Amino acid sequence: MIALNSPVKPNLKKLYKLLEQVNSNGWFTNLGPMHKELTGRLEDYLGVKNLLLTNNGTSALQVAGRAIGSQSIISTPFSFVATVSAFKWQQDKVAFADIDPYSLNLCPQAVKTAYRKGCKADTLVATHVYGNPCDVTAIDELSEQNNFQIIYDAAHAFGVKINNQSILNYGDASTLSFHATKVFHTVEGGAIVFKDRVNYEKAEEIINFGIRPGQGVVNVGINAKMNEYQAAVGLVNLEEIDNILNHRAELFYAYRQGLKDIVTLPTWHPESNVNGAYMPIILEDKQQLERIIQTLDANNIQNRHYFSPSLDKIFVDSHNYGTPNSLRVSEGILCLPMHAHLSLDEVNHVVNIIKQLTLR
Ligand SMILES: *Cc1c(COP(=O)(O)O)cnc(C)c1O
Repeated sequence: MIALNSPVKPNLKKLYKLLEQVNSNGWFTNLGPMHKELTGRLEDYLGVKNLLLTNNGTSALQVAGRAIGSQSIISTPFSFVATVSAFKWQQDKVAFADIDPYSLNLCPQAVKTAYRKGCKADTLVATHVYGNPCDVTAIDELSEQNNFQIIYDAAHAFGVKINNQSILNYGDASTLSFHATKVFHTVEGGAIVFKDRVNYEKAEEIINFGIRPGQGVVNVGINAKMNEYQAAVGLVNLEEIDNILNHRAELFYAYRQGLKDIVTLPTWHPESNVNGAYMPIILEDKQQLERIIQTLDANNIQNRHYFSPSLDKIFVDSHNYGTPNSLRVSEGILCLPMHAHLSLDEVNHVVNIIKQLTLR
């Protein structure tokens, strides 16, 4: 069987050494030495400042929203459910605007139209879906014209840059997920990168019950801290990250080269590197999708129909500015196997199986 995904397994010898240190310190959580080390290493590696570790990527979204003071969001219907449910959970109002049919990211023109039609959302939440950067320049411009803040869900975009600048440096906050299935992981975990130090400091209190050291409780908070065992896994995995990113990019290009004349592929941001987080293909309709799934299943090749359904079909009480592209794409989207342990031979095998189908 060729697995859809397979978590990076941390080097146990290295991990054991770090865990021995944790045990001998007796400092298991609450911003200990491993946490501090991982924060610094990630800031260096990613080229960012104001990075705050969290216990997962969903809490990262929630804490980012609280820290910048969001109450109503405009968002993409084409993402993992957490992008939107994180804000629904804290009673934010939600509005949906459509995606661009080529990049599959939130469409700036659709956002512009929504505001022209009276949208009052104070915050835009957009996903760099599959690690493909949003049109951050156009979104920045709209943010100035319409006075909204920006949170990017960058759960798929670890290591992604445009023009050699980390994609995490756009927007007021960007969130990462370090779940086991992601490009870089700490088993469960996440992070927020803030543009402004004040928001970082607010979030630092929020993830620790609203406590400011020396002053007691100054804010309504929650517990969203990353612990020392998780941070140790992160430190070990970070040592492998360049190899992993290179390997994933190689697989990604091999897939794209092999499939470009057979199925529709999302259009990538022209100034971006790729991190090979996912391998999405777009089929014309449900029939074509079912044919390909049947064939892949019969050949023991795992695949997943995501992201589907379009999130406006789940959150039906949200304001909807029309999402025809998202509704159509979510019917025909399919992700092929993509992970650090996948080989180039396996990718070529999957490509050949799909080629035999003569979809076009
Ligand atoms: C994985 C993911 C999340 C949630 O992250 P967790 O760490 O699993 O909580 C949020 N948004 C997107 C787009 C994701 O893919």
